[in-house]
Amino acid sequence: MAPQHDAIVVGAGFGGMGAAIELRRLGFENLLILEREDDLGGTWHVNRYPGLAVDIPSSTYSYSFEPNPHWSRLFAPGEELKRYAEHVARKYDLRRFMRFGTVVTGATWKDDHWEVVTDGETFTARYLVTATGFLSMPKTPDIEGIESFRGQVVHTAAWEPADLTGKRVAIIGTGATAVQLIPELAKTASALTVYQRTPIWVSPKPDYPIPPAVRKLFARLPFVQRAVRWLGSSVLELMMISGVVHYKQLRVANRVAEWWCRRHLHRQVRDPELRRKLTPDYSFGCKRPTFSNDYLRTFTRPHVHLDTATIERIDATGVVTADGRTDIDVLVLATGFNLWDTNFPAFEVVGRDGRDLGAWWRQNRFQAYEGVTVPGFPNYLSLNSPYSYSGLSYFTTIECQMKHIRRLFTAMRSRGASIFEITQRANDEFLGRMRTRVAQNSVFSLGQCATAHSYYFNQHGEATLLRPTSTISAHRAASRFPVEHYSFSPVLAATPA
Ligand code: NAP
Repeated sequence: MAPQHDAIVVGAGFGGMGAAIELRRLGFENLLILEREDDLGGTWHVNRYPGLAVDIPSSTYSYSFEPNPHWSRLFAPGEELKRYAEHVARKYDLRRFMRFGTVVTGATWKDDHWEVVTDGETFTARYLVTATGFLSMPKTPDIEGIESFRGQVVHTAAWEPADLTGKRVAIIGTGATAVQLIPELAKTASALTVYQRTPIWVSPKPDYPIPPAVRKLFARLPFVQRAVRWLGSSVLELMMISGVVHYKQLRVANRVAEWWCRRHLHRQVRDPELRRKLTPDYSFGCKRPTFSNDYLRTFTRPHVHLDTATIERIDATGVVTADGRTDIDVLVLATGFNLWDTNFPAFEVVGRDGRDLGAWWRQNRFQAYEGVTVPGFPNYLSLNSPYSYSGLSYFTTIECQMKHIRRLFTAMRSRGASIFEITQRANDEFLGRMRTRVAQNSVFSLGQCATAHSYYFNQHGEATLLRPTSTISAHRAASRFPVEHYSFSPVLAATPA
């Protein structure tokens, strides 16, 4: 029996949509895109907290083949990203493949196809693509008594509009999300207590409205916007290369980035004690740096209090630390996402010979060839894999993976095959290369990262999230990897035209 679908894509965010666009370009028209949320857009559909905005320049944080001349600002607010996702789905006719509110619980390789089980049905497909995101499993902190709090508790990834006017609000966490949210909370709350475990490097954000005349120019002369994209991408690339990937060779650039952030802090916060509390003690780049013009300054407002003592417990009415207790009405959890325990992979994936991907990764190191394919998992593209994230803009990763898919499927078809699998040898060689690069050059092994508490590191202390190469090298690898690295099996059923 032929499988029901050519391919099942799990996730209707930018990653899943990019894969679907590429599969359609390859001629696959019988697609199924399964999405657990009630609409498309991934992160930009789920996250709705006040202050949500992209912190990568919008001309860069978008598909290169689908520029959007209508961004209102250099760093667009969240709802514009959601609208952009809707536009892409419309233009590339993807909605008709999507099923929302469908939670995938498992996928199993059945000799020549995948069987995908959801909370209500079972589907089959020749190919399986998971694009479930890196940051899609919200983390609730394991703090004693948190369930006993009688006020409102809200995680940033499940934001519900609420009037906080006059409320006493506490927020746990000072990551990239909190950096955007805290200045907004301070505008309405009568008192805001920020519980910080690890301070974060904050750089100024050169954010400006894009005047209508410039937007018209972008629409009429797309090459102008392409030039702006190139500039934004180059700056980000420079930051990644100097601050993270080639720390060994360009340590001085990393120091300059730290100096730049310290100067920003110095300008916004005059109180030396407050400044000390807000200054990270780990190297720039160990953890994702953030960009904000008002985060640091917010702590100087009289009703905003920074508490750096460890949270001992939460009770019915407040938060208790070694410094005392604070009564609150609302508790905001800006505590991020669980990548390494629940998200790699986001559901059970069982490959050839009963190999369970989650168990295999945990027992044999997190790994994926070019951050896309895994030995023992034929016809499977895992887009949110170890070593897949390239550069600072997620779109770099997506577009590299689209190139990889194109080259892989073209090679497979030219051999009259319909089944691919990465060879163990090619995978091992790639893993070895990535590990060597991390160990020999990157800030993750040569910088001071021990106190960063960065989700770039897995539970074994290895930095296995980011690809330790330039994005140029990642793009080159995606379009030139030796196709012999894959084994291709003969056609078992008709391949699509
Ligand atoms: P995050 O970076 O993981 O930060 C979580 C925060 O919660 C950290 O400060 C962490 O402290 C704290 N925390 C967690 N558990 C805690 C506990 N039990 N007690 C005390 N504090 C605790 O998560 P995020 O801020 O949601 O950001 C995640 C990622 O989303 C970012 O790195 C970025 O990639 C992305 N993001 C992007 C944008 C954008 O504009 N593109 C905007 C927002 C977010 P420790 O550091 O001590 O663990």
